[in-house]
Amino acid sequence: ARLAVAVGDLARVHARATPDRPAMVFEERVTSYAALDRRTNQVANGLLAAGIRDQARIAVLAKNSDRFYDVYFGAAKANNVIVPVNWRLAPPEIAFIINHSQAKALVIGAEYLPLLDEIGTELTGLELILAVGADGTRHVEFDAWQAGQPHADPGLAHDADMTVMQLYTSGTTGLPKGVELTNGNVVSALAAGLSGALGPWGPEEVVLIPLPLFHVGGAHFGTNAFYHGGCNVILRETSADLILEAFRRHPITRAGFVPSVLLLCLQHPDCPATDFGPLHTITYGGSPIPFDLLRQAIDVFKCGFVHMYGMTESTSLATVLKPEEHDLDNLTRLRSVGRAVPGLAVQIVDANGAEVAPGQVGEIIVRGPCVTKGYWRQPDATAHTIRAGWLHTGDAGYADEDGYLYVYDRVKDMIVSGGENVYPAEVESAIFGHPAVADVAVIGVPDARWGEAVKAVVVLAPGADTSADAIIDFARARIAGFKCPKSVDFVDALPRNPSGKILKRLLREPYWAGYERQVN
Ligand code: ATP
Ligand code: MG
Repeated sequence: ARLAVAVGDLARVHARATPDRPAMVFEERVTSYAALDRRTNQVANGLLAAGIRDQARIAVLAKNSDRFYDVYFGAAKANNVIVPVNWRLAPPEIAFIINHSQAKALVIGAEYLPLLDEIGTELTGLELILAVGADGTRHVEFDAWQAGQPHADPGLAHDADMTVMQLYTSGTTGLPKGVELTNGNVVSALAAGLSGALGPWGPEEVVLIPLPLFHVGGAHFGTNAFYHGGCNVILRETSADLILEAFRRHPITRAGFVPSVLLLCLQHPDCPATDFGPLHTITYGGSPIPFDLLRQAIDVFKCGFVHMYGMTESTSLATVLKPEEHDLDNLTRLRSVGRAVPGLAVQIVDANGAEVAPGQVGEIIVRGPCVTKGYWRQPDATAHTIRAGWLHTGDAGYADEDGYLYVYDRVKDMIVSGGENVYPAEVESAIFGHPAVADVAVIGVPDARWGEAVKAVVVLAPGADTSADAIIDFARARIAGFKCPKSVDFVDALPRNPSGKILKRLLREPYWAGYERQVN
């Protein structure tokens, strides 16, 4: 199928209608739509001239910059695939992803050249290394290479099912998996966002991208502005300083956050005095948000909020809770992640795959045009996750009578204690209410009598003191007895990944040494 709009077209369409409008701002550099079109043609031509074509993988290991979209759309114009690599991973994990993707080219930020020296001998298959911001003596310099390529559009035809981006998952529940996203996935997610809750958008939007571009919440969220001819403000790093500075310098109308980054901003001493001017919508999601944090954010930013639930495998989108549904008088509704976006079907199923009634907890499954065709070079994981067109999200939740979805927890983190299912998220929110608790994670640990027993791992607030028994008593007053922790451990910090998600598999490990944990 030929698409009216493929990812490569995101750099073409507005270059004709509004060539001089800004497409992206990065530090002191502004790129117009005409320049974006030309720069991405040059990347495409350079790759094709080097024989890098036909869905070849182009890995990118660099801090955020406007070059990311040069490479993404340039690769797409050549029908190649960008593979953004999470630079927060350990060197062997980075080498694993570059090799697993079978990348032929690597675009690397100068800051990672020492790392490249470290892992270089392990890398196989690279034919072209382009270093952004390096002096060009040891590796070809990206800007100089790009400037030397012809300006003309290579004019290749694009198909809906061609992969354009291979995005590795966050690795919260296991090793990261390479999700293949196609022209069709990306464009349908853009269209769903538009007709769903992110709209109405227009060319006047100035969109802040403070999240890393190696996750879907950054990379895909940033394509919305290009789709509508608006402007992206791209930050090199996710820091509260840079975010608040961006609000002072640019007339930002929309921003995309995750809860942990909202918290970072709200804790910054300059936050209360910052004027958020024309900001009208903040989009947030990616992990559960504590209610107090949301209320504080609504107070401080004084704009509309859109809550998104989704995953890499669904091109970031599955459900949204719209601004008008953020009603501080309806606390139940505020805990919901909203309803399915247009074009996407969401169901809750039991362990046998049968749909359950409203209110009943089961696994969340989704189906629609923004769902991936699968994991690169992992046919078993693909077959396990996508069955009869339905993406099995691995998340447990329920839907109410009106179709509002409530995300409970990861199915893999569910604790089966004495035959009862316990969802850690519910136990955690109960314990969070204790004034001495700064952070908490609840896990299942092996137990001779119950199979698994509920354990709370608690970080105390600075200067606070309490006992395991006091926390267990506190929980018992709030949730059913079988959900209460049987034991409490105190630690200094919980292991989290860069998206702010607690790594429960790491937390569980020491307790499960010598045991086999059964999960469905
Ligand atoms: P991996 O698949 O490698 O274990 P991951 O699932 O964390 O990692 P992502 O695709 O980045 O990787 O994250 C998607 C997951 O994040 C969802 O499946 C869900 O568990 C969680 N999530 C996303 N949005 C929300 C939200 N609004 N509220 C609660 N959880 C969310
Ligand atoms: Mg996942």
